[in-house]
Amino acid sequence: MKEFKYFSPTKIIFGEGKFQEIANLLPSAKKIFVVTGKHSSKANGSLDSLKTLLKEKTLLIFDEVEENPGLETVNKGANIARKNEIELVIGLGGGSPMDAAKCIALLATNDGLMENYLNGEKNNSVPLPIIEIPTTAGTGSEVTQHAVITIGSHKKGFSNQEIFPKIAILDPMLTLSMPQNITVNTGVDALSHSIEGYLSILATQESDKVAIESIKIIKEELPKVVQDGKNIEARSHVLYASMLGGFVISRTRTIILHALGYPLTTFYRIPHGKANGAMLPWVFEFLKKGEHTNSPLQEKISSILEIFGDINKFINDLGISTKLSDYGITRDDIPRFVKDVWGRRNLEVTPKEVKQEDIENIYKKAL
Ligand code: NAP
Ligand code: FE
Repeated sequence: MKEFKYFSPTKIIFGEGKFQEIANLLPSAKKIFVVTGKHSSKANGSLDSLKTLLKEKTLLIFDEVEENPGLETVNKGANIARKNEIELVIGLGGGSPMDAAKCIALLATNDGLMENYLNGEKNNSVPLPIIEIPTTAGTGSEVTQHAVITIGSHKKGFSNQEIFPKIAILDPMLTLSMPQNITVNTGVDALSHSIEGYLSILATQESDKVAIESIKIIKEELPKVVQDGKNIEARSHVLYASMLGGFVISRTRTIILHALGYPLTTFYRIPHGKANGAMLPWVFEFLKKGEHTNSPLQEKISSILEIFGDINKFINDLGISTKLSDYGITRDDIPRFVKDVWGRRNLEVTPKEVKQEDIENIYKKAL
């Protein structure tokens, strides 16, 4: 049996309406920094609800987190937090505000800028406690030690055991307001986490069980949510599967698929999950090439394909094109995409050697 480590320090509160119980779930902190996006938490009422539910506390709202949060944003949020003797950080929103909340919690108790820590500097002090409240069902950030920060046109992953959230409140009601495209894109992100985690060289028998469960749920339930966005039961399942995907990548990290998707997001503003979906069939094709039919990798790929039948069709039926030219991407983009992908840590855990020309060929095929 393969050896493994298991560390999941996040207390999880899952269920319809659980957000309403937040006041009873919080530690005794009085001064709280709330990190959220620019629009959706106001439009769907979740930010106002949070203010009402925590009216006994002093809340400082930082509502400047953009999609794919930038360095400047987390540094700015951290400066405000530092000046205000914050005791606790809440991230409310999708992966972007949740990731920003983690970075701000770390910077609030440590000197310097986020770039120092992205470049490998170790923090001296323990970050502030973090509570994550997802309003998308995709990143699983509420249960991981990971955050992704964008520096110009490069997305950089950051992992630190100390930014595991203390509490994750998963209330599927908060995901009801997602329009169809965001539901699909974030759901496909969750799917890619579980697929990549299943194929990662860090996968274990334990993470495999969780990954397969998550993949099966998304296959069944995501199309139901697309058909009827008010289907709370299906929304619950997708949020649950997304959390499972978070458990998986907290152990296995993500592989070449996430790496290939990043430049699509930074250069063409294709949302994160959609970018993964667009590249998914091409990654399968690359991983399958030259493998013996009974190799362990081939067997794993076959078991995913058995669940889906045609995975390309599954992605296309959700409204995601798997042809890069449909997004305006051309051959001329490939060199800068390859440069962005080459050297990423994701390649180290990909279950097959990846050469620079492989990356180029995958993009060429995907055009
Ligand atoms: P997001 O960037 O947080 O949000 C996408 C869009 O959805 C935004 O316009 C947001 O609005 C809106 N939105 C969020 N919740 C909504 C709701 N309930 N109703 C209506 N609209 C809503 O998207 P995401 O896919 O969840 O997160 C993506 C980020 O997470 C990327 O930076 C990605 O790299 C990162 N990520 C992190 C991990 C990890 O392990 N930490 C894993 C995968 C991906 P507002 O902007 O107004 O809030
Ligand atoms: Fe992701």
